[in-house]
Amino acid sequence: MIVDTRTPNPKNFISGATGDWELVIGLEVHAQITSKSKLFSASSTSFGGEPNDHVSLVDAAMPGMLPVINKYCVEQAVRTGLGLKAKINKRSVFDRKNYFYPDLPQGYQISQFKDPIVGEGTVHLDMPEDGAVEVGIERLHMEQDAGKSIHDLVPGKSVVDLNRSGVALMEIVSKPDIRSADEAKAYVTKLRTILRYLGTCDGNMEEGSLRADVNVSVREPGGEFGTRCEIKNVNSIRFIGQAIDYEARRQIDILEDGGEIDQETRLFDPKSGVTRSMRSKEEAHDYRYFPDPDLLPLEFDQAFVDEIAASLPELPDEKQARMIEQYGLSAYDAGLLVDEPETAAFFEAVAEGRDAKVAVNWVMGDLAAHANQVGKPVADAGISAGQLGSLIDLIADGTISGKIAKDVLDIMIAEGGEPAQIVQDKGLKQVTDTGAIEAIIDEVIAENPDKAAQVKEKPKMAGWFVGQVMQKSGGKANPQAVNAILAQKLGL
Ligand code: ADP
Ligand code: MG
Repeated sequence: MIVDTRTPNPKNFISGATGDWELVIGLEVHAQITSKSKLFSASSTSFGGEPNDHVSLVDAAMPGMLPVINKYCVEQAVRTGLGLKAKINKRSVFDRKNYFYPDLPQGYQISQFKDPIVGEGTVHLDMPEDGAVEVGIERLHMEQDAGKSIHDLVPGKSVVDLNRSGVALMEIVSKPDIRSADEAKAYVTKLRTILRYLGTCDGNMEEGSLRADVNVSVREPGGEFGTRCEIKNVNSIRFIGQAIDYEARRQIDILEDGGEIDQETRLFDPKSGVTRSMRSKEEAHDYRYFPDPDLLPLEFDQAFVDEIAASLPELPDEKQARMIEQYGLSAYDAGLLVDEPETAAFFEAVAEGRDAKVAVNWVMGDLAAHANQVGKPVADAGISAGQLGSLIDLIADGTISGKIAKDVLDIMIAEGGEPAQIVQDKGLKQVTDTGAIEAIIDEVIAENPDKAAQVKEKPKMAGWFVGQVMQKSGGKANPQAVNAILAQKLGL
């Protein structure tokens, strides 16, 4: 029985010819477990390498070979379950999922069916407009990855690379709690962040370490769940959004034309942006699951779970809550910072002993813009937390204005160096000497007697004078001093 946990939100409705529609989405995410060796063999899991370099007799399914469970992979799955605030099942069972495919030499995949290692959990999302959304986790189970058939390498022949065969995967199945493409993208992003914090999956979608099967249906807002289609193996967050948008429109058009949705498996083509039917429910495999007789049920005790729990890092939700509390940040700012653990650590190093709001503006503003431009993470964009901190100190103690600080950051990015040294070498120190500022102001007033006469009636013109003075000072005049002296001289 599927329970609907969400109140329909009109902002998510899609308008059709006959009225509004609501999307219902559930995701099955395949995440490769970070481990040196495979789930049931000692072969390496490293990416790349020559075809069939990392294949043992077990991975190649030679007769008589027996699988041996990799304890580290089990720990990683439990760790992930704990990170998803999920129920850990101390007894789980490995089943054979039977199907024939050239890249699956066993003729079956070892997976978990009825008794997965992890049960129900939850992932918390912060949507920019709608706030908190809780997405239920149905289960997490462990399974083996398959190899890869290659059809365009040897003319006239297909060849197979079994390097991935037997690599450990976690399949993380969400409840159908997601109601828009944006929520689906936020869910995968958040899940990936949690996995990276835990160190249980590197989340690298280009290398296939994380991919999603996207289940999509539409219904009248708040109505009965509709028939779903499953879009297989989508390998980027952007494509997940595009596939959902396309699929929603396709299903709505069919229903509004009086048709019915076939429950089917579809594929998303990123080039054309459409989904295509792969197989219908009638053609669906009967996998004839049964417990793998080569493997005992997987059993561990509470002490095993407790030890893993004790080693968990501070997770994104907790870090976000602490940052809101400790630095007085908005939920949104804190949420951005915790996306990457390195960015959060970088921010904390900059904020230490400084105004946190100013620190977040520099980290997520100018520095993030630069990082984005060079395609690097904020913490690795060429500016250290120490350098950025010193720059902020120079603003705080009045040595430079915020505007000059942006120039100094540009110089640091281009040439490197410590901000104080740059300010000294380039003569960027702020002019606070009131005598010098007065002299510039007198000059500007003398050059513009007509404007000086008008300014009393049009006080807004004072801003023009500030601009002139700042320009003449090369941006170095202390803005507060300029304002004060100008007001006095212009008689405002
Ligand atoms: P199966 O085992 O046949 O794939 P599941 O019940 O395990 O079916 O569901 C798989 C995924 O489909 C889950 O992520 C679930 O949330 C999602 N799902 C189930 N019903 C719907 C629906 N009506 N619309 C969209 N997604 C759904
Ligand atoms: Mg499925």
